[in-house]
Amino acid sequence: MKIIHIAAEIAPAAKVGGLGDVVYGLARAFSLMGNNVSVVIPFYASLNRHAIEDLKFLEQCDPYSVWEGRVDGFKIYFIEIPGAFTGSSIYGGANEKSDFIHFSWYAFQWVSKQAEKPDVIHLHDWHVSAIPLFAKGAYKIIGTIHNFDYQGITERHLIERFGVNLHDFPGIEQEEHTINLLKALILYSHRVNTVSATYAKEALYTSEGRGLQDTLKHVNGRFSGILNGIDYDYWNPETDMYLPHHYSSHDIEPKKLLKHELRERTGLAHNTRPLMGIVSRLVPQKGIHLMTHAIERAGDYGYQIVMSGSAYDPETKSLFERLQQQFATDPNVRIHLGYDEKLAQWIYGASDMFLIPSLFEPCGLTQLISLRYGSVPVVRHTGGLADTVIDIDTPGKSFLHANGFSFTDPTPAAMDAALARAMHLWHGNPLQWTALQRQGMEQDFSWKKSAQQYLDLYCSV
Ligand code: ADP
Repeated sequence: MKIIHIAAEIAPAAKVGGLGDVVYGLARAFSLMGNNVSVVIPFYASLNRHAIEDLKFLEQCDPYSVWEGRVDGFKIYFIEIPGAFTGSSIYGGANEKSDFIHFSWYAFQWVSKQAEKPDVIHLHDWHVSAIPLFAKGAYKIIGTIHNFDYQGITERHLIERFGVNLHDFPGIEQEEHTINLLKALILYSHRVNTVSATYAKEALYTSEGRGLQDTLKHVNGRFSGILNGIDYDYWNPETDMYLPHHYSSHDIEPKKLLKHELRERTGLAHNTRPLMGIVSRLVPQKGIHLMTHAIERAGDYGYQIVMSGSAYDPETKSLFERLQQQFATDPNVRIHLGYDEKLAQWIYGASDMFLIPSLFEPCGLTQLISLRYGSVPVVRHTGGLADTVIDIDTPGKSFLHANGFSFTDPTPAAMDAALARAMHLWHGNPLQWTALQRQGMEQDFSWKKSAQQYLDLYCSV
């Protein structure tokens, strides 16, 4: 099967968060299954060129050009558009909407002039959601929504200038002069999905749909939830290239050496407290007030906390910079600000627990990674976190199915209660703690099952 993914991110060439991991993981899984897979993304000035094999100029197509590279056996095509994507980061450029719509147009033009037509064009998020309007039904299109918070509300003329008559696409209007690109993806793809079953339900029936509930109900039979996976070759504590000590569920002991070294490097005290990790974008979705509470209370509540967080808006940045200064010499708190893959991997490897207090979470990958690395997740019970983290005290579930701790109310008190239960087990029953770690490590959140579900989705059209 010939499958083309078109997206804003792919790890490790261009990654901000989970979208990059998912596009990479899916492309690799399909490629390993013997499909002809390629990925098309913009040629960002900020591209991580070291991560791309054989990056070379491919074709001048006026006014855009195409570059080609490879990652792990599949091809990535980069669309270079003069004057677009020139900033130091992937998102947040002054002409972000216009740049992504231009990208969508040229990516589609380029795909359509290929001699071999793809069996499926798989689009991800609002950045490329104009493509069904350009394609007008000529291709089999699958759309995946990774987060309903980002919808791409766009001036009509940004689409109309490509000769699209928006009257042909009822239902995508937002206000008088604007359209909603996610509505276009939902209404004019052949199938549309989001990234967990619970988030799909939340989006259909609660305010998590962010105003798109009716649009989703309109295509109900064509809308589903498919849980993300993680790439088990990349996220592997037995081989992780960033870690000096490796371990598996059969021998977790070396994890202690990682904790020792991380404490040494970051200046955290060597004490008997459990080490709790956070790796996150610092945006309201991720439960910032709960993270700051956990940081401020670390000393009193008996754990250590180590965080790698990327903040984008100035207010959040200065909030965490203040905390960083306040706790600069604290024996139990270390805050790193910025995107740092190596540190993130150390945190997954070295930590005993992992905190994810999200207000909403479409799927969440950090709990899947922390499970794989034996760092027991403590999460808010929402979206994909609810589908993957089974609390040890879940009524009717045996301990053997559990892998972490969860809480429901988005309040400090509810989170504290979950943390207190985790601390109680950590201190009171080390054997059971190790069993919990092991159970999480041995559960399968690889792409195997999910890739098959996507394949079934492709074949159902
Ligand atoms: P989201 O896509 O909403 O940011 P996910 O949990 O789906 O959240 O995916 C987050 C991905 O980004 C994970 O691979 C995580 O390790 C990575 N990540 C997030 N923040 C950072 C950071 N500050 N440094 C390094 N990696 C990060």
